[in-house]
Amino acid sequence: MLLLNPGPVTLTERVRNSLLQTDLCHRESEFFDLQEEARTRLVDLYGLDADEWQAVLMTGSGTAAVESMTAALVPQNGKLLVVENGVYGERISQIATQYGIAHESLKHDWMQAPDLAKIAERLDADKAFTHVAVIHHETTTGRLNDLQALGALCRERGLRLLVDGVSSFGAEAIDFADASLDAVAATANKCLHGVPGASFVLVRRAALAQAASRTYYLDLGRLARLQDQRNTPFTPSVHAYYALVEALRELADEGGWQARHARYAALAEQARAGLAERGIGSVLPPEQSSVVLRAYRLPDGVAYPQLHDALKARGFVIYAGQGGLSAELFRISTMGNIHAADIDRLLQGFSELTR
Ligand SMILES: *Cc1c(COP(=O)(O)O)cnc(C)c1O
Repeated sequence: MLLLNPGPVTLTERVRNSLLQTDLCHRESEFFDLQEEARTRLVDLYGLDADEWQAVLMTGSGTAAVESMTAALVPQNGKLLVVENGVYGERISQIATQYGIAHESLKHDWMQAPDLAKIAERLDADKAFTHVAVIHHETTTGRLNDLQALGALCRERGLRLLVDGVSSFGAEAIDFADASLDAVAATANKCLHGVPGASFVLVRRAALAQAASRTYYLDLGRLARLQDQRNTPFTPSVHAYYALVEALRELADEGGWQARHARYAALAEQARAGLAERGIGSVLPPEQSSVVLRAYRLPDGVAYPQLHDALKARGFVIYAGQGGLSAELFRISTMGNIHAADIDRLLQGFSELTR
């Protein structure tokens, strides 16, 4: 079965086999070597300076990392503006509400790009804002939000930017040199091609120095401190760490995030062009979309469950639209061990269905 959903991904044999390594106690030096290799490789992936940035690992899915980042990096007297144009933006607002973090949510229609003029207006209307949170790749629609433009708005106002990069880290450009950027939260089992159970925050050491401690298990500051001392507060998902490290080695061998970006871009274009030939249009133009996942309009007279089941019978798992979008669209991700011949077979499947 090939997974075309946005994580977990179809594994390579190399990563799958890494799960079969020896049993490991997380209090032994071998585990801390593994933890250190993961952290070092994560910092190196975008060429970051380890004196300025650190990778903080945790056990949990991508949401754990987003929650840890949000709970830690908006200080007690801070205020967060959440830019929402999909399910994951909404989730950050819910996290902020849960922790009692002062915040406002700037809601957009899920099909819209962030409205920069409106964001600027909102930020200028309330000098209490200290932080802005945004989803880099809003997986709800496949839209790649413009981090550079948001970073510029933040820099002009001395605000700090927090990014959910769960479905972009490892395959899309992220400008870590942007002085407003404090943190990017991400996970092992999307563009990095690991297994679910390990997630992480790439965070500026300077931002961590002022971190709040609102949560026990997901306390980013404490996790960072202990990991810097080759330690860990709890039992980590050891096997997920094995897979993460092997996936990061494989990514480096394949040419890093730029090579992964190019590979996904080719697959996404192959799928887009092939579906267009079959009368199935994409929801967003390619220049507004990520290379990681694209949303398409359901063909006339075909309901999602019908399409899903027919493709599943042919060996492919596609993904429904979220919420109100489930009646209109479906999504195809090109993350994981997916190749051009797989997309060809997928398109053949569509031909048989829509004939
Ligand atoms: C997948 C995803 C998440 C996290 O989802 P989990 O199910 O917790 O892994 C968060 N944000 C975005 C943008 C995502 O695509």
